[in-house]
Amino acid sequence: MAFTLFPDSRLALARDALAGLSVGDALGSQFFVPGRHPADLAAGRLPPPPWEWTDDTEMACSVVAALAEAGRVDRDALALAFARRCEPYRGYGPGAVRVLRLIRTGTPWPVAAASAFDGQGSCGNGAAMRVGPLGAYFADSTSRAAEQAGASAEVTHAHPEGIAGAVAVAVAAALAARARLDGDRPEPARLLAGVAAALDPATEVHRRVRRAADLLGRPLPEVVDAVGNGARVTAQDTVGFTCWVAATHLHDYPTAVRTCVEAGGDVDTTAAIVGSVVAAYTGVGTPGGVPPGWLAAREPLPAWVG
Ligand SMILES: [Mg+2]
Repeated sequence: MAFTLFPDSRLALARDALAGLSVGDALGSQFFVPGRHPADLAAGRLPPPPWEWTDDTEMACSVVAALAEAGRVDRDALALAFARRCEPYRGYGPGAVRVLRLIRTGTPWPVAAASAFDGQGSCGNGAAMRVGPLGAYFADSTSRAAEQAGASAEVTHAHPEGIAGAVAVAVAAALAARARLDGDRPEPARLLAGVAAALDPATEVHRRVRRAADLLGRPLPEVVDAVGNGARVTAQDTVGFTCWVAATHLHDYPTAVRTCVEAGGDVDTTAAIVGSVVAAYTGVGTPGGVPPGWLAAREPLPAWVG
């Protein structure tokens, strides 16, 4: 059913997704600190605050700020925003730091992005990790979410897998936010089918999302074996897994994030992606939503995101 989504409502959905993304990122990254164990989180023992957010959140804040300002992605402006706001100590990969430095010093983004990985472009999970709020913003149109996600991805990730990863996460978040507006939780299989339908069938990301759908209801180690957990920091190794977790635990933010921590791998990024999709559905401070205590433990977001 067609409906009108006003700019304020779009932004509210995007900001809830950003809350879920940033808390997932900040809590997930705590498990790279020596002495922290996933079993503590499973037992309800949280790491001491503050939980500092990383590159996932910094870039997602630029995406949300761009949507708040223009209602769409302007690729030139977004590339510059990513480049100017990059604080390398936030856990950016060396390839990302290099591409962003090139952009900051005047190289056009199409040239900078294409130069990664000996001219293949990056298929890292960095375009997927920042895009959930954009998907929530376009809750009324998965095709618009997919198109805008592609635009947001290609300024740093020229490889088709890197772009497909962003499209998959944005469409998952759009479907989650739409389900929240409709008051009707989608079956996990239907959610994953909706994501797969938006993807280039030639991509490995598409194959892994389909594989994740085949594995609904299966034990976590079997899923990680089959589709990855982000340990390779590629979109292929990250996005199918995150779609499985988000579809399985769409009604339960804490369990969704704990599942990412338990799975290991690129935990700040998997928890950021999953957190953004799930929070687009649950919201913040609601039953099953982002717990207010977790939000309070997360380092405050930068003032410029509003
Ligand atoms: Mg990170």
